[in-house]
Amino acid sequence: MKIVKTIAEVRAQVKEWRAQGLTVGLVPTMGYLHEGHASLIDASHRDNDRTVVSDFVNPMQFSPSEDLESYPRDIQHDAELVEAHGGDLIFHPEPEEMYHKGFSSFVDMSVLTEELCGISRPIHFRGVCTVVSKLFNIVQPDRAYFGKKDAQQLAVIRHMVDDLNMNLEIIGCPIIREDDGLAKSSRNTYLNDAERKAALVLSQAVTIGTELVRNGETDCNVILNQMKQHIQSEPLAKIDYVKMVDAETMQQIPVLDRPALCAMAVYIGKTRLIDNFFTEDI
Ligand code: AMP
Repeated sequence: MKIVKTIAEVRAQVKEWRAQGLTVGLVPTMGYLHEGHASLIDASHRDNDRTVVSDFVNPMQFSPSEDLESYPRDIQHDAELVEAHGGDLIFHPEPEEMYHKGFSSFVDMSVLTEELCGISRPIHFRGVCTVVSKLFNIVQPDRAYFGKKDAQQLAVIRHMVDDLNMNLEIIGCPIIREDDGLAKSSRNTYLNDAERKAALVLSQAVTIGTELVRNGETDCNVILNQMKQHIQSEPLAKIDYVKMVDAETMQQIPVLDRPALCAMAVYIGKTRLIDNFFTEDI
């Protein structure tokens, strides 16, 4: 397993693999890897001959008020995890390698990025689409792996690949959770003990919503109100949004008459956490 910091090194390695007729999977991450990321690496290792993991805290997807500086980083730990899960190459560039002086081209998307997280994070998906496009161009993978934990991101990337005729397959992978239900996230490290307990309201709300859908409830307001009531019962929790949207277009729907995504963002203290379920996975 190798760690490289330059685009040229990634290209040289992938060229060598291609010359041997090998397939390549890409797992884009911001590092500080946990079992959620590991599940994507496992999936890529299963489907492809070689797996590249990008490990880059992308400044372009953070607004000035967000946690770019404090975002946790530990490349040594990441390298051990990637190696243990069969990854072959970590691409760990400096921001200057990805965004040279005078960088001025962006991949922007309307509609899908204007709902859910796009409302409180208006520049976020432009940063995500731009960096993911760059990674696709650098690695030119056969497949790329994304977690359903970031459900809107997965829908946005699928849409971008379709719109721009990018020549790869996007694979969505299930949410990996702690034993008590909390979705694994690099940002969970921000939580103190009381907040860590309070954060369980997100996965508990997912369970409430899932049960209602499983029992045949189709009125989105009924589902969302019960989930919100539960979250609001926790004093440390403040709802950013809890919404039901069309799973493909990310537009809000009043009735469950098509595949839907129920997504939420909730502040626990100062930490913003997300969780969700797709009705198709129930
Ligand atoms: P991040 O490093 O947070 O940008 O995440 C990199 C990739 O890992 C994204 O595709 C995420 O959706 C995915 N991921 C993060 N946490 C989880 C999780 N708990 N379960 C599954 N995938 C995850």
